[in-house]
Amino acid sequence: MRRKKMLFIGGAVLLAAVCAVLGGIKLYRVAEANRCGICLSFDDYNAENWEDYFPLFEKYGVKVTFFVTASEPTDFCYHAIEAGHDIGFHTVDHVDMSKLDEDEVYQQAIAPIETFREKGIELTSFAYPYGAYSEELNQRLLSYYKVVRGARQYQTVGKAQMRHGFVESYPLHSINHPSDEEFRESIDAILDELSRNKGAIANIYSHAIAGGDWNVTEERLEYILKRATEMGFKFYTYRELQEN
Ligand SMILES: [Zn+2]
Repeated sequence: MRRKKMLFIGGAVLLAAVCAVLGGIKLYRVAEANRCGICLSFDDYNAENWEDYFPLFEKYGVKVTFFVTASEPTDFCYHAIEAGHDIGFHTVDHVDMSKLDEDEVYQQAIAPIETFREKGIELTSFAYPYGAYSEELNQRLLSYYKVVRGARQYQTVGKAQMRHGFVESYPLHSINHPSDEEFRESIDAILDELSRNKGAIANIYSHAIAGGDWNVTEERLEYILKRATEMGFKFYTYRELQEN
């Protein structure tokens, strides 16, 4: 009798423990689904410059996506993936896709998928050079890529849209933000909007981490990383959201 009672109590304790764990997992999933995030990406090919900033990303636990202009995977691509970042594609020769014929689109944006795959890198995201896209291009590219990204506007999107479709991305370049004060105000406005939209994602991007019209400076980049992580936002790679 006593043994049976012990077994019963043991079973009840075990059941309670299992429920607590399952409840915890469920709460965690709900919390993750509601967690706002940022997809930060860098375009073109600034391998050495980008790699210099891997320690800065590491400092904030931030993973990013590099949309590379290349004909095949380079050492940088493997280093980035090893560090937990993602590699997306940005055409072979940085061409304005809206001006190409069908075969040129194939050569610039579709054929390289196989070249990268043969060398161990699966390309699942694409960013249009100059942000030049069309509905026809989106339709064609989205049968090869999960996400295609523009480069001109700011928008927050839901996580479902980040799994498959076209998304815009907000430029962080100096040319769009002449003063530090204006830059910080724009970033604060984006982060404030994010915090009001459960589970929303903000897409932002630049080129090199440096001075110059079309880049973002180290100080400005760190401002984003610091503010966003303080506010509890997560930095997602494009691939990470496609797989969730
Ligand atoms: Zn570009």
